Amino acid sequence: MQVNLLDTPIEYLKGVGPKKAEVFKKEFQIFTFHDLLYYYPYRHVDKTQIHTICSLEPESAYMQFKGKITSYEVVGERHAKRLVAQFTDGTGTIELVWFNSLKWVEDLLSERREFIVFGKPTLYNRRWNMTHPEMLDPERQMSSGVSMAFQPLYNTSDKAKKSGLDSRNISKLVITLLNQIQDVITERLSNDIIQKYKLLSLREALVNVHYPATQGLLSQALLRLKFDELFFVQLRMLTQKLIHTQKNPGHLFPIVGDTLNTYYKNYLPFELTNAQKRVIKEIRADVGSGKQMNRLLQGDVGSGKTITALLVMLIAKDNGYQSCLMAPTEILATQHFESITNLLKDMPVKVGFLTGSTKTAERKVLFEALQNSEIDILIGTHALLENNVIFNNLGLVIIDEQHRFGVEQRAKMWKKNDIPPHILVMTATPIPRTLAMTLYGDLDVSIIDELPKGRKPIITRHLYEKNRLGMFGFLQKEIAAGRQVFVVYPLIKESEKMDLFDLMAGYDLMADCFPIPQYQIGIVHGKMKSSEKDFVMTRFVKGELNILLSTTVIEVGIDVPNASVMVIENAERFGLSQLHQLRGRVGRGAEQSYCLLMTKHELSTESKQRLKAMTETNDGFEIANIDLRLRGPGDLQGTRQSGDLDFKLADLAKDEKLVVFTRNLAKEILEEDSDLQLSKNQTMGRYLREVMRRFEFFGNIS
Ligand code: ADP
Ligand code: MG
Repeated sequence: MQVNLLDTPIEYLKGVGPKKAEVFKKEFQIFTFHDLLYYYPYRHVDKTQIHTICSLEPESAYMQFKGKITSYEVVGERHAKRLVAQFTDGTGTIELVWFNSLKWVEDLLSERREFIVFGKPTLYNRRWNMTHPEMLDPERQMSSGVSMAFQPLYNTSDKAKKSGLDSRNISKLVITLLNQIQDVITERLSNDIIQKYKLLSLREALVNVHYPATQGLLSQALLRLKFDELFFVQLRMLTQKLIHTQKNPGHLFPIVGDTLNTYYKNYLPFELTNAQKRVIKEIRADVGSGKQMNRLLQGDVGSGKTITALLVMLIAKDNGYQSCLMAPTEILATQHFESITNLLKDMPVKVGFLTGSTKTAERKVLFEALQNSEIDILIGTHALLENNVIFNNLGLVIIDEQHRFGVEQRAKMWKKNDIPPHILVMTATPIPRTLAMTLYGDLDVSIIDELPKGRKPIITRHLYEKNRLGMFGFLQKEIAAGRQVFVVYPLIKESEKMDLFDLMAGYDLMADCFPIPQYQIGIVHGKMKSSEKDFVMTRFVKGELNILLSTTVIEVGIDVPNASVMVIENAERFGLSQLHQLRGRVGRGAEQSYCLLMTKHELSTESKQRLKAMTETNDGFEIANIDLRLRGPGDLQGTRQSGDLDFKLADLAKDEKLVVFTRNLAKEILEEDSDLQLSKNQTMGRYLREVMRRFEFFGNIS
C-alpha cells in the first residue's frame, strides 16, 4: 500500500542500514522514509554557476569550477596516505585531495580529465585546496531523475558526520529516496485549490524542495509546503472549534438582571472604556447563544481585565449560576479577592476564597456553602481544581494569566458541571495576531486595546552603571513625593545562586543609600516561604515600604497604583515580553510613572534591540510583534504546547499574509462543507483526520 512505503523504517533505505539508522534517529529524529522526505535542506548551492579560481576569496562557500586535471599522485603513508590532484580552470590552480576511496578516484581520473568540481575551497599553506570534492561530468546535467542544478545542504552534526552522514551523503540518500517514492506521494489538497492558486503538486513540491531544477521552482516548492503547514493547522483548529460548538451545549444566560444593573448604575467606580464595553458585548453574545463559550481575552497590563471579568460574573449570577476566578499565584488570588470584595462591598453578592493554605475548618464551611449556592463567586488558586471543590451550579470559569495553567488543568474545570461551564481565559501577554490565529485558532478572541483614560504613558529609560547615583537621586525624589519603587533582579534557574547574590548585593547597596528609618525597604525572592513573601508584599501594597526589591516573582498581575518607578537590574537578561510585563506593574495610578532599565555597558545586538523597543513603545502588541521577530514563536510566553507550532518552513512573523490567507480559505471551505465530505474536499478530509488523530488529546479538551 502507498502509505506503508513512506512509513518504512529508514534503516531499509538503500545505503543506510542499522548503524546509520541509529544515527538518523538519535541525531535528527528521522525514523522513517517519511521523516527523511520532510528533512528539508537549509540552503542550496547554485550549481548552475561556475566560478573562476582566480577570483577565489578566503571564506568562500561551497562552489564549483569547470576545468581539467593536469596531474595526480598518491602521497603519504598509512594514515596520511592521500590522493592529490592538480586541477585548473585556466585562471588558476587548485589542489583536490582525497583521504579515502583512493582506488575509486584513481579509476575515475584515469578515465577522464574534464570535470566540474564542487566543494568548499580552503586556503592551506597559501594554496587553495578542496577535500573530497564532488566530481561531475560536464556533459551530464541530470543524475537519476532529479535535477542537479542546485546542491542541497542539510543540517548535520559532528557525530553524524563521523558516521558518514555529512550533508553530501544525506543529499545522496535523499536522491535514492526520491527515486524510490516519488510516485507514491499522494496529494492532500483538493485539485480546486491547487489549480485556483497555481500551487505545485505535493509531489513536485517535495522533489523540488530538495532538488529544485530552477530557483523559481524552489520558491514555488517552499510556498506550497508552507501553505500546507499553515492551511492544515487552520483547518484543524477551525474543525475543533466546530466540534466544540456542535458537541457542547452551553449554559444560557439570557437575562441582564438586577445584580448587574444595580452594580453598573450605582457602584461602578469609573466609566468603562469603549474596549471594555465592546468585550462585554462580545461575551454576552456568547453566553446568550446556548453554546459553550471558549474565549480568550487579551488585554495589555493595566487595561482593566478584572472589572470586565467581574461584570461577566454578575451576569452569571443574574442567571442563577455560580462563577469562579482562578489566578496562578496566591498573592494574585488574594489581590483579586480583596479588590473584588471591595468593589462588591455594597452588593448582595457572596464571594468565597480558596487557596492551598485555606484551613480545613474553613474549607468545610466553604465547601458546604458552595454546594448550597450560598457562594456566588469563588476566587482562588489551583486549589479550585481539586476534586472536592464541588459547585451547585457552576456556569462560568475565568482563568487569569492563563499561560501558567496547562491544558489538562483547564479540562478539569470543564468537568465541574454536567454541561461544561463557559470559559474565559485572560492574558496580559499580548499575542501577535498571526500567532493568536494559529495557536488559539479554536478559541474566540476578544481584545481590550485601550487603556483607561488619564493614564500617562510610562517613560522608559535605558541607563548604565555610571548613571546609578543619578538614578538613586531620582528615586529619593519620587519617594519624597510619596511614591513607591520596585527594583527587580533577574532570576534564571541555572544561576540561581548568582542571582540571589546579585539581589543581596543590591540590597546592601540600597540599604546604604536609603537608610532606615527614613526609608523602608523590603525584599522578596523565590527562596522565601510563601507566607514570608506575602507578608512583605502586603506591606508594600499597603504603602508601608518605600522600596521593594525582588526577583521576578512579582511579574504577574500585582496592582499597586501608588508605585511609580520600576527599576530593572541587568535588564539585558530579560526577554522583551517579560520586560514589558514588569513595566506594567507601574503606571496604574494617575501619576507619571517611570521604567528604568539598568544594563552593563557591553551588549549584544539583540539585547540592544530589545532595550530600544522598550524605550520606544509602550504598546504591548508592538512589543509582542518585535519579540516574535527576534525570538520566534516557540519562546514566546503565553504560548501553548510548542508542538503546536512545529512548523518547518512557515514563520509566523514573516508569513503573516499566508497565515491570514489560509485561515480565510479554511473558513470558507468549512462553511460550505464542515465535514469535508464533498467529493472535491475528500482528499483534504482524509489528511485532516490523520492529523487530528495525532492531536486527539487537544481535540477533546482544549
Ligand atoms: P489588568 O488588565 O492588568 O488585570 P486591572 O484589571 O488590574 O488590569 O486594572 C488596572 C487598574 O485600572 C485597576 O486599578 C483598575 O481599577 C483600573 N481600571 C480598570 N478599568 C478602568 C476604567 N475603565 N477606568 C479607570 N480605571 C480603570
Ligand atoms: Mg490582571
